[in-house]
Amino acid sequence: MAAESDAETDLSPESDLMDKIVNLSKRRGFVFPSAEIYGGFRSTYDYGPIGVLLLRNVKDAWWRSMVQLRDDVVGLDAAILSPPAVWQASGHLENFTDPLVDCKVCQERFRLDKLDDPKLCPNCAAVDSFTDAREFNLMFRTQAGPVSGAGTEVYLRPETAQGMFVDFANVLQSSRKKPPFGIAQVGKSFRNEITPGNFVFRTREFEQMEMEFFVPPDEAGQWYEYWCQQRFQWYLDLGIPESKLRLRPHADDELSHYSSGTSDVEFLFPWGWDELEGIANRGDYDLTQHMNASGEKLDYFDPVTNSRYTPHVIEPAAGATRTMMAFLLAAYDEEEVNDETRVVLRLHHRLAPYKVAVLPLSKKDTLTPLAREVLGSLQPHFMCDYDETQNIGKRYRRQDELGTPFCVTIDFDSLDDQAVTVRERDSMEQERIAIPELVEYLRLRLT
Ligand code: ATP
Repeated sequence: MAAESDAETDLSPESDLMDKIVNLSKRRGFVFPSAEIYGGFRSTYDYGPIGVLLLRNVKDAWWRSMVQLRDDVVGLDAAILSPPAVWQASGHLENFTDPLVDCKVCQERFRLDKLDDPKLCPNCAAVDSFTDAREFNLMFRTQAGPVSGAGTEVYLRPETAQGMFVDFANVLQSSRKKPPFGIAQVGKSFRNEITPGNFVFRTREFEQMEMEFFVPPDEAGQWYEYWCQQRFQWYLDLGIPESKLRLRPHADDELSHYSSGTSDVEFLFPWGWDELEGIANRGDYDLTQHMNASGEKLDYFDPVTNSRYTPHVIEPAAGATRTMMAFLLAAYDEEEVNDETRVVLRLHHRLAPYKVAVLPLSKKDTLTPLAREVLGSLQPHFMCDYDETQNIGKRYRRQDELGTPFCVTIDFDSLDDQAVTVRERDSMEQERIAIPELVEYLRLRLT
């Protein structure tokens, strides 16, 4: 079996920012290589104490905008394990493949459609050394139950989307929605990628945030435009600068056979423009496929027109883990402060892992009770960190690297004046705030 290009080997030397993000992620507890004590495991990653908060905030921000703030989208959490029938009908068993080539000189494997030059091996620079391309199915297959054999075969879903089609009739009936309406889902997906890499950009186990929006066929065009704009705006609203974001419509030869339009939201990664999300106008392909394969009705009876139709689908499909990485890259900043380099993650408040850090100036017993009292008053409202080790300067720097918007320092004066110093991450400005007003002060600024 050929060696695979894992994250570390994929990083080109000039991708300085990537190195910094990978290092910061490990040092501060965002992302660790999986099973590291056993040498790591093939581009698989664990989200540490800070990363789990950031990833959750990314998913929550998506859910808030796609489900909470709307009355025409409902949620779903479908099973990861699914029977072959689902993937037979969806076309994944036949078509969910990537073209795989081997370099005959260095034995490295590549995805042909991702090579800059289809004749040049990017690993050993050999020319014309590739085998013919073979179509490699990306789905993970396993078995359900202790006995292997016919009927026990199951797949780990390679996308969350099929859950929304398979459950369409149940959701329609139970939610009493009617087109245009959507079903949204966030969860893990699995793809046996040929060349995972670039840190968490492409992994075999990852999280997606997908929504299927079901519309009357003659409204599909306008809803497609609508969702392209909405989704683009979501990234801008969460702080990705417009200069690092673009919406790229697919050329005709890139489109899937069932799609009448697809656009990618792309981010300027250190290696160039690459996809964060695809928005596709999928027609009635998916519902029709499942209707034909299952024999169940997956259409809609419109009581107003007294007619039946199969809704068309607009699908915004984003990656949570990949998007988290884009937010990290966009937020990373370095500046000179008092002849020292300050590293600061200028994350949007909604995404920041901790909103507030409570820092008693000294570890002395005299300050601890009040500091813990302040912490206790903030915890029901905000995700907080509490840190009493090292000097205060180092603790500020640590919070800057975590992207914490506010640090609250309790000093010896606090014992007398019942006030604390609040330091803001980006400006580093400090303000003295009375403890009884602290929650409101922070709440107003953390929207
Ligand atoms: P690619 O062409 O890069 O393999 P795709 O176009 O097949 O990706 P989709 O099937 O449209 O990707 O998936 C929707 C989103 O899910 C992608 O835009 C990406 O953010 C995320 N995603 C897909 N595959 C992976 C992966 N292996 N690792 C991390 N995120 C992924």
